[in-house]
Amino acid sequence: MKAIRRFTVRPVLPEPLRPLSGLARNLRWSWHPETRELFEAVDPGGWAAAGRDPVRLLGAVSATRLAELAGDRGFLERLAAVAAGLEEYLGGDRWYQQQSGGAELPAAVAYFSPEFGVTAALPQYSGGLGILAGDHLKAASDLGVPLIGVGLLYRHGYFRQSLSRDGWQQEHYPVLDPNELPLSLLREADGTPSRVALTLPGGRSLRACVWQARVGRVPLLLLDSDIEDNGPTEREVTDRLYGGGSEHRLLQEMLLGIGGVRAVRTYCRLSGHPEPEVFHTNEGHAGFQGLERIRELKDTGLGFDTALEAVRGGTVFTTHTPVPAGIDRFDHELVARHFGDDGVLPGVPTDQVLRLGRETFPGGEPNLFNMAAMGLRLAQRANGVSTLHGAVSRQMFAGLWPGFDPQDVPITSVTNGVHAPTWVAPEIAALGDSGVGEVPDADLWGVRRALREQLVYEVRDRLRASWHQRGAADAELGWIDGVLDPDILTIGFARRVPSYKRLTLMLRDRERLTQLLLHSERPIQIVVAGKAHPADDGGKRLVQELVKFADDPRVRHRIVFLPDYGMAMAQKLYPGCDVWLNNPLRPLEACGTSGMKAALNGCLNLSVLDGWWDEWFEPDFGWAIPTADGSSSDEDRRDTLEANALYALIEDRVAPRFYDRTADPAALPGRWIEMVRRTMTTLGPKVLADRMVREYVERLYAPAAHAHRALDTERARELADWKSQVRAAWPGVAVDHVEAVSASTAGGSAELGSTLALQVRVTLGQLRPDDVEVQAVAGRVGADDTIADAQIFPLKPAGGPDQAGRWVYEGPLALDRTGPFGYTVRVLPTHPMLAAADLGLVALPTEATGEGGGVLMR
Ligand SMILES: *Cc1c(COP(=O)(O)O)cnc(C)c1O
Repeated sequence: MKAIRRFTVRPVLPEPLRPLSGLARNLRWSWHPETRELFEAVDPGGWAAAGRDPVRLLGAVSATRLAELAGDRGFLERLAAVAAGLEEYLGGDRWYQQQSGGAELPAAVAYFSPEFGVTAALPQYSGGLGILAGDHLKAASDLGVPLIGVGLLYRHGYFRQSLSRDGWQQEHYPVLDPNELPLSLLREADGTPSRVALTLPGGRSLRACVWQARVGRVPLLLLDSDIEDNGPTEREVTDRLYGGGSEHRLLQEMLLGIGGVRAVRTYCRLSGHPEPEVFHTNEGHAGFQGLERIRELKDTGLGFDTALEAVRGGTVFTTHTPVPAGIDRFDHELVARHFGDDGVLPGVPTDQVLRLGRETFPGGEPNLFNMAAMGLRLAQRANGVSTLHGAVSRQMFAGLWPGFDPQDVPITSVTNGVHAPTWVAPEIAALGDSGVGEVPDADLWGVRRALREQLVYEVRDRLRASWHQRGAADAELGWIDGVLDPDILTIGFARRVPSYKRLTLMLRDRERLTQLLLHSERPIQIVVAGKAHPADDGGKRLVQELVKFADDPRVRHRIVFLPDYGMAMAQKLYPGCDVWLNNPLRPLEACGTSGMKAALNGCLNLSVLDGWWDEWFEPDFGWAIPTADGSSSDEDRRDTLEANALYALIEDRVAPRFYDRTADPAALPGRWIEMVRRTMTTLGPKVLADRMVREYVERLYAPAAHAHRALDTERARELADWKSQVRAAWPGVAVDHVEAVSASTAGGSAELGSTLALQVRVTLGQLRPDDVEVQAVAGRVGADDTIADAQIFPLKPAGGPDQAGRWVYEGPLALDRTGPFGYTVRVLPTHPMLAAADLGLVALPTEATGEGGGVLMR
């Protein structure tokens, strides 16, 4: 029988156990082992059944057991200690409070993300982007950074994955009841639930309530449109992550960005939390937050351009993907319909909105609104998520700064990191206390083996459950007890399944892979997992190919595909593997974080030099899979080359080192253990989310807070006026003449160590020397005269203006490199509040300028 109505009966905890409720509702338990152990002790049998989720556990534990615990002195003492520990964690000063320049730091930062992966018990993520956001909140909490997280509460989360008999991905969308999640409703002082509302076309409204999760010290606000005040269509806006068509996505992003700012305002009003001075958007999906803040300022009487300057100063945008399909784009018509005059942001002109999202780069579509382009235009500070990805992003978005070389594009990078307390297995954490450097080989190897063995059992359980799901009876499944071996080299590969991640590269030569799996002395075993996007049949075919290969009785004891990759599985998988494999198409993996989590557990990386691995790889602690990018545009050939390189590496380098035990089978693989140690000691400290969040604070949040404060109404208006004057006057700016007055470059050569004295005449028209910087740009030149590794030499005004409004600029240019060398001169607008390329304006020498167009000395 089915219930016609459903509600949640909350447990009433006996008085002495009340602190359990606060412990369950602060997600710090998800990275605090003592708190988890306490909950396990509440009901050891029920803990696993409740999915290791304290809120569910407390909802299920019997009244008898609760009464018993209420009289258990030992338990109550433990409870008091753990609760006091949480209090202390929430209250005391931490890194952020101890910074000397504390007054320079933002009073608060709002952090927007379409997904948050904090714990498996709050499944609001699809993959790396969300888990990174979760790790960002946790590290911010540990460091005392006053962050407020902002997202959506999806009633179905992302989908759960299972397999059909023939290996085709099946999707399920279980309904989540917020009352059964570690959430509480944001309420007004009178107890009524707070609401945010957005105006939609046709006089409709989109309303949402706001759920709060506590991530240690950090509040996470999640907007939920599934409430009775909404019409049926609006109720479904927050139904699921990355589902639905274009209009659905637009409504989600309007709610996240615009509704998100309103939720933050409401939260600060009700809780007394300081208002954010910096708004950080994790990827473009939340970009409308900037427009809502412009609307707020316009309501106080500011013009659009002034409001835009004020907002940009305090905004940070992080781009996460060089894959165009990963960027949201909407039809202009759709955006215009929602942002029209009586639309969601009254007073914000539609044409201005559309201009912010315009694709003004080669190959851009005139009728598409690009959320990343808007993100970059609304933020004075932007970054990619690894050094390589920063460079790729500067290239990719260079079209938004016409006239500038990619290296001038104002997008920096902060390499991602992962939250160690979440991702390090307790067994490894225990070693860490005494310093991994000191632990004897035998102990380190013992822990690694124990973790591998745990994984073997976990895999068998999951595989059995999957086969039941696929319709198999127990009688057919006896073989599962022989799947994987705790003493065989174990390789892990788990990730979402977009094509660039190449889930099936390892299947390129099936015979060769089979030989590696079944090798008589040095076998390997592989654990694979990953979800394809529900609309991506190509990805589902890849999953099926892999499943079918792994179903083959010849190899099924050595390779498995586990359905429903998620945080709970990941936490077992990374520590249990010896090698973490990553073979994306370089350079499409912006950073990648699973390999970092693996590294923290002493699992070695075997990866293409992409994302973070390109930055930190060293042969002392891992392997780089050679790639054929650049040299071959034929993808098929490239896959073959790279797959062969992968097989060769495993066969010749990885497996021999793992099995290198001298003649004595009881001996330890010393060189392998050394690599494990180096992974943990050399690489470990770099890959931390703590390091990442500190970098965000120092390099982006603090300057953004400074800009936000400096750009009060007066200064923002000055800046906006200055920009429009400069734009209007720019056509009159020109480089007229360039001359090298001393060291002779006659004959096209000069001596190393000599100096070139440049004299340049420029016309500034309506502008003054204060408005511009005149620079020499110099460096090595290639055959096409392109300057590489450019160095900038600012020139100084030395006279002017003459009758024609021309100014003379001078300065030295040091010739400190041998070989082909060249220089040019350019004029840029300059303003103390802006990056050089900010306006996208530059004046360069023309043909008529004579020798200034790039003097070459060979
Ligand atoms: C870390 C993690 C990811 C992201 O891994 P990548 O290496 O960035 O692909 C995806 N899913 C889960 C469950 C994770 O824990």
